[in-house]
Amino acid sequence: MPREVLAVRYGSRVAPRRESFLNYHVYAEPDGPIDVDYYFWIIREAGGVTLIDTGFAPEAGRRRRRDQWLTPAGALPSLGIDPASVHTVVITHAHWDHTGNLGQFPGAQVVMSQAEYDFWTSPIAQRTHFALHAEADEISLLAKAREQGRLTLTQAERTQLSPGIELVQVGGHTPGELIVTIDDVSAAPGGYAVRPPGALRGGTVILASDALHHYEEVEQDRPYAILSDLPAMYRGYDLLTELSAQPGARLVAGHDPEVRARFAPHPADPAVTDLGTPLD
Ligand SMILES: [Zn+2]
Repeated sequence: MPREVLAVRYGSRVAPRRESFLNYHVYAEPDGPIDVDYYFWIIREAGGVTLIDTGFAPEAGRRRRRDQWLTPAGALPSLGIDPASVHTVVITHAHWDHTGNLGQFPGAQVVMSQAEYDFWTSPIAQRTHFALHAEADEISLLAKAREQGRLTLTQAERTQLSPGIELVQVGGHTPGELIVTIDDVSAAPGGYAVRPPGALRGGTVILASDALHHYEEVEQDRPYAILSDLPAMYRGYDLLTELSAQPGARLVAGHDPEVRARFAPHPADPAVTDLGTPLD
């Protein structure tokens, strides 16, 4: 059954390159700005809708001075999706820009890795350089979902979420960071009057989330600045490179505006990119 996979760009910022790449000084390049997009992702298929991450909460975004124009519940209706039809929310990792707005989906099953959950509910996560990247209230909401019996914690390196959708634990950026691979992805229905030139149809989408913020990390072998385990981060880059070398596989970075150049915009909403329609 073909699936539609969409990236929703809900916010942005401009960051200094020296804050984006680990030990940037070793590259002996001048500092400069790098554009950062914020996304969450939607998988729509016959059985319903899965949301991959929930973006940041408006209050947290304001406090941290990010631009924001959408939350998931605000974005879904323009795509013809009732937020109540989201049956599963995958949390790739528990950083603040991926765990906001969970309260918009009170009936959904939430899935994340056990390693990620255990880390963020442990004392070490309270230390400055980890706590900085999380919202305590949102970690509490995950704990509450667990009490309610609607949090599933993955333990294997690879977990099948449903046939053709796999969660792969790579760590690196955070202790239990997940990537998501989705097979049999097709172009969004509703269609394009004229297909973008050269656009291909179908294939496997590899949602890297923050295992890869910017394509530059894998293309120039340049680790991201925020991390919990550098060897795991390098191994994650190797895995993404290996997976994306497979025929029909398409790598989607978690925060890179380049995503919008590599895939076609969705006809229904300019904030949405159709990951079933690569432009190469
Ligand atoms: Zn992020």
